Amino acid sequence: MQPFAYTRVDDPAQAIAAVVPDARARYIAGGTNLVDLMFDVVETPSLVVDINTLPFAEVQRTPDALRIGALARMSDVADDPNVRAIAPFVAQALDASASAQLRNAATIGGNVLQRTRCAYFRDVTQACNKRSPGTGCGALGGENRMNAILGGSDACIATHASDLAVALVASGAVLHIRGASGERTVPLREFYVEPGATPAIENTLAHGELITAIDVPLSPVLARSHYLKVRDRQSYEFALVSVAIALQIENGALKDVRLAFGGIGTVPWRSDAAEKALMGAAPTRSAFERAAEVALAGAIGRGHNDFKIPLAKRAVLAAFERVTA
Ligand code: SF4
Repeated sequence: MQPFAYTRVDDPAQAIAAVVPDARARYIAGGTNLVDLMFDVVETPSLVVDINTLPFAEVQRTPDALRIGALARMSDVADDPNVRAIAPFVAQALDASASAQLRNAATIGGNVLQRTRCAYFRDVTQACNKRSPGTGCGALGGENRMNAILGGSDACIATHASDLAVALVASGAVLHIRGASGERTVPLREFYVEPGATPAIENTLAHGELITAIDVPLSPVLARSHYLKVRDRQSYEFALVSVAIALQIENGALKDVRLAFGGIGTVPWRSDAAEKALMGAAPTRSAFERAAEVALAGAIGRGHNDFKIPLAKRAVLAAFERVTA
């Protein structure tokens, strides 16, 4: 780890003013991702600005949304009765994340901003276009078992690591962001950027902007939802494939449906095509088999990760069976 300066701030304006002038300044809250990257010398901030005392830790139900403060801890949000009742798959995605110790420390804002776990990204002796643009991609022709099959490019196939973001994208969540020039909102789905030719750009957050809250719009479809995570071991492990599913059934047909994937996309991957194929259909296993084919139609395996294509299709069916059980 390289030397860095540290400061603690008490209000958002102070935080933003501290970070904006220094391109190497970083916010820190739970620190469960940033500190790891600092130990690996992937991140080398000059200044770390501690935002833990900012007033963004509340979880509340507003007239239109479940509002989750960006500094709320993952374990607190997972246990929140409103979260569990309004959007069960959000709580389940949190429960399936990391370890109990990490969930007690890590924040919601940090979770949706976490960097990829691609092994080449975290090893500074390896080629990685995301960490060092223009150096190449070690994973494309290397060990890519954990890498993405959807949304990749010839420059990067890194998987987005968050479980929570998959359920949030399926829910239609909206980010509240504050910066030097004021506040803005952006749908979480539009926030993430596929790698294309510039994998170092992962989202639309400008330097110095702060995520303050995430709104999950209230919707009847979310009440019947499930998050299924397939992984190599049952705790403290990233997804090989995950599925966030939500169904609203009326008169024997799907009135609303949400389907998103984790562990297989360069961004949390919501499948519009699969949702469209399911809308109005009877909620049957065969309808979901067809939807899974549609969802994975554009998937590209790179060798070690070829198995994710059939695994993702089976995961859709398993998630469907659980949400309709
Ligand atoms: Fe780097 Fe992306 Fe290639 Fe991984 S997949 S080595 S993060 S460029």
